[in-house]
Amino acid sequence: MIRRDPRSVVRTALGILAILGAVGCGGASEGEAPTSPTNPTSPTTPTAPLPVADWVDAIDGEIPLVIIAPHGGDLAPAELPDRVCSGCVTGNDLNTQALARTITDAFSGRIGKRPYVVINRLHRRKFDANRDLQEATAGYAPLAPMWTQFQGAIDSAKVRARRLHPRILVIDLHGHGHTIQRLELGYQLSASELRLTDASLTPLVATSSVAQLGRVAISRDSGAVLIRGVRSLGARFAALGIPAVPSDVDPAPLAGQDYFNGGFNTVRHGSSITGPSDAIQLESHYTGLRDTASNRAGFAEVFVTAILAFLRDHYGWVPA
Ligand SMILES: [Zn+2]
Repeated sequence: MIRRDPRSVVRTALGILAILGAVGCGGASEGEAPTSPTNPTSPTTPTAPLPVADWVDAIDGEIPLVIIAPHGGDLAPAELPDRVCSGCVTGNDLNTQALARTITDAFSGRIGKRPYVVINRLHRRKFDANRDLQEATAGYAPLAPMWTQFQGAIDSAKVRARRLHPRILVIDLHGHGHTIQRLELGYQLSASELRLTDASLTPLVATSSVAQLGRVAISRDSGAVLIRGVRSLGARFAALGIPAVPSDVDPAPLAGQDYFNGGFNTVRHGSSITGPSDAIQLESHYTGLRDTASNRAGFAEVFVTAILAFLRDHYGWVPA
């Protein structure tokens, strides 16, 4: 039997509820109008199993990094009903599928090796790949195998990566439409928690999505230092000219500022309780990063540089 600090268990459970209920990646992205479910289709039972394998792209890799792109799906098959549920978000994170593919190519170009990549091809109007089964499918039972296909592809990527590496990082790649143009990095730490002093934040990192990394990082960074110290992921991006919160120069969103702190995938694939897989949700702004092919290529190069530094510092991994 595993004994855990009751407070941390309760806190984790509450955190998961809060994330699933309110603060997952939501809101329409720039460049795409919110989809109003004004003409919901009636769910029907398909006569054959849905071709869910066609709706998940999994790219094999070699490095200790798994990239998930859940909200950039380009397919909206007519046989699927539009999702209609209370509070459901149906707008895509524009161009994030293309961004994930460009980042993969940038790794290949830089180091001759790829991360593992799992892409949801379905539009968020049909399927939300950063939610639990019920909200992902809006209760449309025939689509349940899609949830299993997508999450199973991530689990498989993690298993394969772990055959090569003792510890791995999962980046859940999104796009936000918030006013402030900066990356929002989500570790399952709320904005108000990030506004605490380092001394008060540090114990909370022990139940974040990088909790176990904070215990074993090669850098010996832990607690608040891992989240917003000079070797944090936010600091690496900021030093390369891409503003990011939390980071050494922008330690927390101010009260009233929009911020996504990590959703379903960050919880499921992170190390809040145990495990060799850490997770960070990366919410990118639109203009200058993912709006055009050339900007996506530019950001992909920055992404590679920042992640390689993070993997070197904390995981002790460098390209051979
Ligand atoms: Zn998203």
